[in-house]
Amino acid sequence: MTRILLVEDDERIAADIAATLAAQGYIADLEADGEEAWFRGDTEDYAAVILDLGLPGMDGLSILKRRRGNGRNMPVVVLTARGAWSERVEGIDAGADDYLPKPFQMEELIARLRSVLRRHAGQASSLTTIGELSVDERKMRVAVRGVPLNLSSLEYRLITYLVRNRDRVVPQHELIEHVYASDAEPDSNALEVLEGRVRRKIGRDLIETRRGSGYSMKEPEA
Ligand code: CA
Repeated sequence: MTRILLVEDDERIAADIAATLAAQGYIADLEADGEEAWFRGDTEDYAAVILDLGLPGMDGLSILKRRRGNGRNMPVVVLTARGAWSERVEGIDAGADDYLPKPFQMEELIARLRSVLRRHAGQASSLTTIGELSVDERKMRVAVRGVPLNLSSLEYRLITYLVRNRDRVVPQHELIEHVYASDAEPDSNALEVLEGRVRRKIGRDLIETRRGSGYSMKEPEA
């Protein structure tokens, strides 16, 4: 059984998530206090942590930072307040593997959780290849046919996010949230321009655009 540490102080949300996790066959340990959660995460082994940021005791960001300082590397999905851009960016910088703005659908939380668990299981290799594209997240290197590309941080973030989520279509709003480290919400136009630039660098067929739904990486047909 896969054990998940669920850190959430809102009783209603916590109960909903716990019930969903149980129904999906996970064992969830619930913790509402940040200090206690930190202690538990530090002394017990979990497959993953679902972490709310606003917590009594110790806030989620401090937990993330301390955890990273410790070299523990359980994957963490962070839950953030709606529209809290800076929180999300800080969360990612502090080592969160993914985050979900509230309110969210339980199905989406489970999908994200599965994806971080899968990624974590396959972390022995940090190199992902899709067609002629190779992405080494540990070295922060993206190459086409072995030739390293010169990328801006926005381009790098766009590519790595699509690569990590290559088994699904990533909605435009989600991609915008993950790519832009800014309090100012960029429009979808800016994303399209960025995506066009990335296409020219990695090859136009790798990213599939689904009008009205989002983007996905696709393995070119042999
Ligand atoms: Ca909270």
